[in-house]
Amino acid sequence: MDRTIAELIAYVGQTMFERNLTDFSGGNISIRDGDLIHISPRFAGSKQHWHLGPEDIITGEIASDALLEHPRFSREGRTHLAIYRNFPDAQAVIHAHPLYVLPFCVAEKPIIPVLESGQKFGKIDVIPFSPAHSQELADNIVKALTGKEEIIRKQAAAVLAPKHGIFMAGKDLLATLDALERISWNAYCILNQPIMAQLPNA
Ligand SMILES: [Zn+2]
Repeated sequence: MDRTIAELIAYVGQTMFERNLTDFSGGNISIRDGDLIHISPRFAGSKQHWHLGPEDIITGEIASDALLEHPRFSREGRTHLAIYRNFPDAQAVIHAHPLYVLPFCVAEKPIIPVLESGQKFGKIDVIPFSPAHSQELADNIVKALTGKEEIIRKQAAAVLAPKHGIFMAGKDLLATLDALERISWNAYCILNQPIMAQLPNA
């Protein structure tokens, strides 16, 4: 059975939550559908624990700011709009607070690809700090993704926001979810290198 766009967004949100790819405090997921954006609602984590139904998904125009007035429009939604307006090949956007990525956001260190599966994303850079939910954050993310259009077309490009989380633009939602998990596992491997260095080689 084909999933509707709203069902797909709900499924991806629940999957991210179950796999520690985001948390109660935040994250948001959207899809471009022609001139429209479909996006997970405000407080999807804190109030709904990522148990979303198709009726929870918010839809509106990408080109206008009307959604900013919607009471359930995600507070990070302005970043999603900015990405769709600036990157025509971006068909999906994920923002998340992944368990193994957050230490890099706090330390403001990039995620270097150490697994073969992460090479195609290149180095995941940290952007300058700007407050959550701000237009300044949206602008900084657009600036940091500029130049990564080929990676967006291939699968998904990502940047890290200090003290906050990861923002990704991808060619479709499942490809972007796949990239999120690969980057998270890659981060887990980097975090464990100091422990591994203590172990005997043979
Ligand atoms: Zn967030």
